[in-house]
Amino acid sequence: MVRFTVLASGSKGNSTVISGGRTRILVDAGLSCRELFRRMQLAGEEPETLDAILITHEHSDHVNGISVTARKLGIPVYFTEATHRAWMRWLTPRRQMTYAQWLEQCRRQAAERQAEAESAPDEAEPDDAEIEIQPTALASEPPPEPASDQPPSRKEDPTWLPAVEYFQSGKPFQIGDIAVSPFTTPHDAADPVGFVFCTEGIRMGYATDLGYIPPNVKAQLQGLDLLLIESNHDLEMLRDGPYPWAVKQRVLSRVGHLSNEAAAEFLENDYDGQAAHIILAHLSESNNLPELARVTAERALNGRASLLANRLLLAVQYEPLSAIYF
Ligand SMILES: [Zn+2]
Ligand SMILES: [Zn+2]
Repeated sequence: MVRFTVLASGSKGNSTVISGGRTRILVDAGLSCRELFRRMQLAGEEPETLDAILITHEHSDHVNGISVTARKLGIPVYFTEATHRAWMRWLTPRRQMTYAQWLEQCRRQAAERQAEAESAPDEAEPDDAEIEIQPTALASEPPPEPASDQPPSRKEDPTWLPAVEYFQSGKPFQIGDIAVSPFTTPHDAADPVGFVFCTEGIRMGYATDLGYIPPNVKAQLQGLDLLLIESNHDLEMLRDGPYPWAVKQRVLSRVGHLSNEAAAEFLENDYDGQAAHIILAHLSESNNLPELARVTAERALNGRASLLANRLLLAVQYEPLSAIYF
């Protein structure tokens, strides 16, 4: 039996469980391990049966729970090499520094931020919650211990994982009974990807965190039984909403996030209409309303009579979506 369970979706954490044959994989681990396990149990999934974790990109809303989850279950994490490196850099920026060096660096960074704020107010900034956590966390935490030349032990090393497997965008690979086809997405991360999963003859597409839908992504998202696609913001709400101008520009850019309107345009003009289930995902809490996302997508689908049979669902941030079975 094939099962697709969204545990969380949005800028505060993303995670989905996909099961097929004897294999279960976790796609992104953007919640704490404890919360991931709690939601899996709520949704009728057993955490201890997971075989692997698969990562789309290194933004914190997709990776927050990787280390603890992988260590607790003793399972491998699949990344592209660039994403793995970016994730490690994010976790170990100052490991080899003395306390004095760290203080000096904090002072320098504060001065740089100040200078930037004064001279270039339009400088691009990280999007919603995805990155805002990082600079403050890094700047405010001193290194755990004075530097030493010894490599950190497993326990101290936040990047230690039981096993790391690399894949490359455009090169399909297999995890147990699930075939995985990663494809490149336009997003401001080191090497972001979306996936098509195929198991027991069922094809499922997974595409969030993309500024627009380029031809390679359009080509991948065909012939699917299930399509999970980003519907991040309503253009008008984003324009009139609370974000600073620079952040608005970033979300809107070609390496930002997909709007309701862009998702609808894809559904209306480029999508083949085959999927029995369409899930709108990564909805912004500040710049979108579930009803707006739904109505925009429904309108696009209703424009095509043949697509009326599609079941449209909305993935949410704070609770799992009921599992979809095939
Ligand atoms: Zn994200
Ligand atoms: Zn992202």
